[in-house]
Amino acid sequence: MSAVAAGILTAFLGRPKEGSYLSGGQLSYNCPRCREQNHGEWDNKYNLDITFPGARGRPPLVASCWKCSLSVPTNQLLRLYAPANLLQAWRSYEQTLPPGTRSVPRAVRAAQLPEDFERVREHSQDPYMQAAWFYLTAPGPEGRGLPPFLVQELGFGISREPRWLNRVLLPSYDAEGELNYVIGRLLWDNDPQQPPYATTAGVKRTDIIFNEHRLDWNQPVMLVEGIFDYAAYPYNTVPLLGKSLVPGMPLEARLRRYRPPVILGIDMDAVGPDPLALALREVARGGQERPRDVLRSRAAGDREALLQRLAELGIEQRYWLDLPRNDMGKLLQHDGYRAVPALVAHAMRPDPPRLATW
Ligand SMILES: [Zn+2]
Repeated sequence: MSAVAAGILTAFLGRPKEGSYLSGGQLSYNCPRCREQNHGEWDNKYNLDITFPGARGRPPLVASCWKCSLSVPTNQLLRLYAPANLLQAWRSYEQTLPPGTRSVPRAVRAAQLPEDFERVREHSQDPYMQAAWFYLTAPGPEGRGLPPFLVQELGFGISREPRWLNRVLLPSYDAEGELNYVIGRLLWDNDPQQPPYATTAGVKRTDIIFNEHRLDWNQPVMLVEGIFDYAAYPYNTVPLLGKSLVPGMPLEARLRRYRPPVILGIDMDAVGPDPLALALREVARGGQERPRDVLRSRAAGDREALLQRLAELGIEQRYWLDLPRNDMGKLLQHDGYRAVPALVAHAMRPDPPRLATW
């Protein structure tokens, strides 16, 4: 039985390490993610351990690499790195296993809209609705500058449930049109009591692709950070809801499969929650040039990491945006929706070829 599994794995990972035996319940292979990071060359370190189910109480089939920290159920490893016929063969193999030993993907909880969810609309007598409308449509700095049609098209809403109170909610739907995530932005900034964003409990940003039903993977795809960057140009755009790609996230799998041209529109001065950097950012807002340069070089680091990862995923046409403002959302706020496409077109810079493409 395990010889079947070993045959499938060897067909796309190459031979396992000599001396690692089926009978021992574990085989060590070269890691395909490390290969991506190593310019497409196998490193021959055999860091990827695949544990086979044995007697009762043994761990289920899991692939983990101690070097790059890839850690996924083995069927997901095949989904990410193996051709379709091998994935099919693997699924058939798993069907022959006792249920307790199959690789079960981490259960992702189903997203739900709050029961009292209401679409944001104009001309309401309800002060709460009025506040949400103002927040979304007023030009910056008070509001986000969305045109009214886009408030409707993207389906922004409100709820009075505690988790979502005083927020504008943006639901996300998967490729089949099923709700997969909700993100809620607080109507004001800098509240020590409440985080700026609330999201669906039990679902991580890396579990989902935001509004995949609006995407055509055969066309160029733009990657941005947040939902208001997204709202600035929500056409074939994916908000990362962060500033990194994470191994195993479905977005990486889609990019690897379709390899569309990618335009990276992340913040120009984006930094992590580093107090010094945040202080510098405040100074930068005062208009001084030098701290902003520091921030820009850090932002370039984030951008560089993402472009490098895109190259590893096999994306050959990569562009990044040298935006005239900090981010896409700021263009929307201060320049207006109509100005965004031309500003983006002028900001596009090609990323030169990198060794890692394979
Ligand atoms: Zn690895």
